Amino acid sequence: MPDTTTKRVLLAAPRGYCAGVDRAVIAVEKALELHGAPIYVRKEIVHNKYVVETLSERGAIFVDETDQVPEGARVVFSAHGVSPAVRDAAEQRNLLTIDATCPLVTKVHKEAIRFARDERTILLIGHAGHEEVEGTAGEAPEHTIIVNSPEDVDGLEVPDPENVVWLSQTTLSVDETMETVRRLRERFPALQDPPSDDICYATQNRQVAVKKLAPECDLVIVVGSANSSNSVRLVEVALQSGARTSHRIDRATEIRDEWFDGVATVGVTSGASVPEILVRDVVEALAARGFATVEEVRTATEDLMFSLPREIRADLKAKEAERATRA
Ligand code: SF4
Repeated sequence: MPDTTTKRVLLAAPRGYCAGVDRAVIAVEKALELHGAPIYVRKEIVHNKYVVETLSERGAIFVDETDQVPEGARVVFSAHGVSPAVRDAAEQRNLLTIDATCPLVTKVHKEAIRFARDERTILLIGHAGHEEVEGTAGEAPEHTIIVNSPEDVDGLEVPDPENVVWLSQTTLSVDETMETVRRLRERFPALQDPPSDDICYATQNRQVAVKKLAPECDLVIVVGSANSSNSVRLVEVALQSGARTSHRIDRATEIRDEWFDGVATVGVTSGASVPEILVRDVVEALAARGFATVEEVRTATEDLMFSLPREIRADLKAKEAERATRA
């Protein structure tokens, strides 16, 4: 039985916001500041309920497709990226676009374009229907086959088994993806690797941190929304790495008393689209339940930052020049 007399929290680090999410959220905030409400955003700017609600309160309007945006209005493309078909549709409606696609997603798009140009078949490991996968596959629809899981591999048919390459969604489980690649290579020994990792640094770092603390935890709480791929993966990684139980929650109010029977150590982490304030609320809610000791388990330090989308940088520069002329 765990020693429930010393209740403690192990707080994963890194956790929460990654550079791509930070950039996308600031892009919407700056667009609102520069141009006023409303600013349209295609899809959720990042997969987090709180972020979407907060930006909505400030005047962002979230839509599913560009045909819901009034002709000529300003629209932000989310961090998950868009396919060329979406860009074309926006152009046809004369929309003023701001592209907040994470540069690490753009990198995968560029790889897809290059491999398609070389007439290779791209085996895109990722979840069909996820916006990022739709965007990447949309760069080369004729050359791309989506591989959802290791179990998909046996049923795959490709035009030329000697000319296949794999790419992946940026927010997958590293271990499961490597298992899929292993099975793909068994079926297609000539399978080529992408030039660099597609699973991004933030996804990998958050999984490494949770792997480290999970074996000591009776319960791991992952803060993140249900549609956040990397948050859902953190629950899986926690369980695979030895946590007795794990739950994903959007907010501290979703924590249930019955989760704490016989629990001494609670791990806490958050997905890459989660603001730190939500984690702080969870730590406070745990303290109120007697888990007042908090130890950070750090496995990496992140200092990556991306510059804002070029449309925002151009608008900021123009505003600055206007101010200087008036002064
Ligand atoms: S999770 Fe990775 S790919 Fe997605 S926005 Fe963050 S840094 Fe970019």
